[in-house]
Amino acid sequence: MNIGFIGLGNMGLPMAINLLKAGHHVTGFDLVQSQLDAFATAGGKVATSANATASNADVVITMLPASRHVEDLYLGDSGLLANINPKTLLIDCSTISPKVAQAVASAAKTKGLVMVDAPVSGGTAGAQAGTLTFMVGGENSVVECIRPILEKMGKNIFHAGGSGAGQTVKVCNNMLLGIQMLGTCEALHLGIANGLDPKVLSDIMSKSSGRNWALELYNPCPGVMENVPASKGYAGGFGVDLMLKDMGLATENAQDLAASVPLGQLAQQLYEAHSKAGNGQLDFSSVFNLKK
Ligand code: NAD
Repeated sequence: MNIGFIGLGNMGLPMAINLLKAGHHVTGFDLVQSQLDAFATAGGKVATSANATASNADVVITMLPASRHVEDLYLGDSGLLANINPKTLLIDCSTISPKVAQAVASAAKTKGLVMVDAPVSGGTAGAQAGTLTFMVGGENSVVECIRPILEKMGKNIFHAGGSGAGQTVKVCNNMLLGIQMLGTCEALHLGIANGLDPKVLSDIMSKSSGRNWALELYNPCPGVMENVPASKGYAGGFGVDLMLKDMGLATENAQDLAASVPLGQLAQQLYEAHSKAGNGQLDFSSVFNLKK
């Protein structure tokens, strides 16, 4: 299968490489030359533009930072939708607003194109290992059609519902993740202030009722766990600004529905303060160092 892959960042690059490893012909594009070089080194074909990526593709996958990048790429006279073969299937894996996902999928439909939202969970480690969880929004028949492709990049493929439903699940999940990370940091700091070894504390809490993903698999305290951003100067991983964006998606969505998310709002404020202190590009577990 010919696959166009647009957005070869921390997540997109390893995802595209897994498609290459599965034997697909993958043509990729990114705005950053070092990402294109890494993709070419892995055996990928580099395109000169996003539209060129899509020109002979059966499927186009996008993995971009935020809603505005997805709108800019797909919409408008020079956008992908205006310049693509109507038989191409579109899969957006970026985490964006459910409303924007629905609007772009609906614009695709008016051009005779089919588009699904398929955001992911599992971090860069999951992207590299091909064990991501996909949360897909769209028609059931389309979801089944793309399942074999997604299975090359992920272990769990869930059909969340109609267009935008994948993004809605992702927004709920990341609001919870952001809150859990802050709670984990707070508990670790309290233990350290009491003179506890953070590794011993983490080991015990991981087998107790405070157990959670941030504590067990993505520990924010440097030195507790190997191969996590905290032990690599908080480089790579999932950026503070991306988490801040997701907190914004959650609180904006809650506002639209008059739903109450006080912890989500507080978490948003804390990630915002951490970003404003110059940490936006660090992994979100660096919120461990937030000075209050
Ligand atoms: P990233 O910033 O590392 O990568 C995004 C890439 O998109 C960059 O390389 C950028 O140059 C490229 N890009 C932007 N506009 C483009 C355009 N018009 N054409 C081509 N390339 C373009 O971000 P990431 O960490 O890979 O995250 C991507 C998405 O996945 C985000 O929506 C994020 O919220 C979500 N996500 C990230 C993680 C994680 O752990 N990093 C986990 C789950 C979901």
